[in-house]
Amino acid sequence: MAEECLFCKIFAREIPAKEVFRDEEIVAFDDIRPVAPTHVLVIPKEHIPGIHDLTPAHATMLARMVQVANRIADERKIDRDGYRVVFNKGPQAGQTVYHLHLHLLGGRAMGWPPG
Ligand code: 5GP
Ligand code: ZN
Repeated sequence: MAEECLFCKIFAREIPAKEVFRDEEIVAFDDIRPVAPTHVLVIPKEHIPGIHDLTPAHATMLARMVQVANRIADERKIDRDGYRVVFNKGPQAGQTVYHLHLHLLGGRAMGWPPG
């Protein structure tokens, strides 16, 4: 656990979040400032700053993060109309929290290209 990391604290339940999934390796919770009817963040327990810091050793965990997102999409019944999965990397992509997180966005039509 990294000191002063918001998402490490959410994983440790030191900061509350509206959780929708939890196991020993992964937690998913509603984003505090949703930009779509479904806006869920999926995070690993391990403090990894971002997508560019992943190594082959993280492959199974990363696949599990995607599977958790897919399961939540099924539960929210957005799987048929579609949804978007986003990892922001760095300031120009809009990353503000430097603990790996997957955005699951759905429930409305998404523009392309993204802003
Ligand atoms: P990023 O911009 O780094 O890709 O995404 C960070 C996300 O974390 C943002 O969508 C932001 O709304 C969300 N966020 C920031 N602080 C909190 C918090 O304390 N609780 C929750 N649930 N989400 C947060
Ligand atoms: Zn962290």
